[in-house]
Amino acid sequence: MDEQDSAGRLAAIRDRIGRAAKLAGREAAAVTLVAVSKTQEAEAIEPLLAAGQRVFGENRVQEAEAKWPALRARYPDVVLHLVGQLQSNKAGDAVALFDAIHSVDRPSLVTALAAAMAKGGRRPECFVQVNIGDEAQKGGCAVADLPALLAQAREAGLPVVGLMAVPPAEVEPAPYFALLAKLARDHGLTRLSMGMSGDMDTAVTLGATEVRVGTALFGARA
Ligand SMILES: *Cc1c(COP(=O)(O)O)cnc(C)c1O
Repeated sequence: MDEQDSAGRLAAIRDRIGRAAKLAGREAAAVTLVAVSKTQEAEAIEPLLAAGQRVFGENRVQEAEAKWPALRARYPDVVLHLVGQLQSNKAGDAVALFDAIHSVDRPSLVTALAAAMAKGGRRPECFVQVNIGDEAQKGGCAVADLPALLAQAREAGLPVVGLMAVPPAEVEPAPYFALLAKLARDHGLTRLSMGMSGDMDTAVTLGATEVRVGTALFGARA
């Protein structure tokens, strides 16, 4: 994809976000577009950087460590979000590289992240991931476990800013987005990481503050 295509796709996504925000009486500026660049090579990312996109998401610590230091050297204002599951033994690496972590979902990870932040001095914003459809095999804490996990994370001093979820595939996502928004409100959290290529519009109308968009920006992943 060349720079013009990237700029065009970026403009189309920004337009979608803007229209959905307007529909809900929200400011488009209240929604951060996280360009999910997992599996994409630096050559595919560069045109988006050139088009002005600065916030990116990756789902693997190692892959991000391989790609981003070189890109960041040229674009120092890049903001990196980790949107994939995180193993506790990678917490230190994640804290060193990322500016936000969307996948805080269990007590052992809270402990590992708190220790890594105390040691490294960096404090990436944290989203607690909720398994909003209570699906087996899916990342995120159970809805029932959210209060205790949030209490632990706050006690440990993690900078928890919001909730994140991926609703079940192939069903209407709106009720799940609405539930996530309610859970956030109930717990005094203002940020909502929800919405992907197929459902970002619905997510924005229901309060998303970060949408995580891969395919619609980069094309299908290999
Ligand atoms: C891959 C991924 C995305 C982006 O999905 P698309 O459908 O390609 O937009 C968003 N969130 C998470 C957690 C992902 O793993």
